[in-house]
Amino acid sequence: MTTSNDRAFDGMSNEENPAESGPDASRLRPMNILEQIAHLVRNCTDCPLSGGRNNAVPGEGNPQAEVMFIGEAPGFHEDRQGRPFIGPAGKLLDGLLGSIGTNREDVFIANMVKCRPPDNRDPAPAEMAACTKYLDRQVELVNPKLIVTLGRFAFGRYFPGEGITKARGQLREKDGRKIFPVLHPAAVLRREELRPTMIEDFKAISEILQGKIEDVGMEPGVTAPAAPQPAQFSFIDAPGQAAVSKAPAETSSANVEDAPQPEQLTLF
Ligand code: URA
Ligand code: SF4
Repeated sequence: MTTSNDRAFDGMSNEENPAESGPDASRLRPMNILEQIAHLVRNCTDCPLSGGRNNAVPGEGNPQAEVMFIGEAPGFHEDRQGRPFIGPAGKLLDGLLGSIGTNREDVFIANMVKCRPPDNRDPAPAEMAACTKYLDRQVELVNPKLIVTLGRFAFGRYFPGEGITKARGQLREKDGRKIFPVLHPAAVLRREELRPTMIEDFKAISEILQGKIEDVGMEPGVTAPAAPQPAQFSFIDAPGQAAVSKAPAETSSANVEDAPQPEQLTLF
């Protein structure tokens, strides 16, 4: 299905985007590309979750973060404020970030789906398929050294069919990106006995970032060296210079119910 936001994404390559020079500079300057993505997310009706949201939660943090955290979906508090991980699980995440000498302003925090599923149910495969284009683009733009997946859904995005309990705490690599799976903070809140494991895994995040842990478990069946990283795109220092490849096409055959389309967003 081609949606209005898919079309807006097609227009979001940096070559077509005059960024901060040219005749349209004054119109475009206030919004960098991550902000444009957030704007698209807030107006998105590409899956049925749009119908139940108070606020979409695009994600936030340092656009040049070394580490990006990917959670599952906004909950009650996140839906009310439009910000990720601000409820009890978020408080735990804040504490864990603090324990390794960082904070939410230094990192980038996003979710698999940007709108709250009703009654905090699991996000459906079709909803994740519809929403993944935003996360793909955020990952591409932030271009973190390390992606930390929180819980089974974010882990499943990179390693479908594997269990998080077994995989957590082991540095992996997928499509040239380092992935470090950890438990979901909400699971740790439900099962206090998991807390030491989570603290240990966060210590490992810090060590990976310091280059102290380099062992990367290859994905099963993959023998070729990792694909090269896309060039870091700095929209602050060198707007429009580095080419950013478009997000790969979503190959899921998931059938997302057609939602009513808003007027085409004209961002460019
Ligand atoms: N749980 C998540 O997975 N994401 C949030 O933003 C909050 C809670
Ligand atoms: Fe759009 Fe994602 Fe929200 Fe669905 S969850 S309406 S795809 S932003």
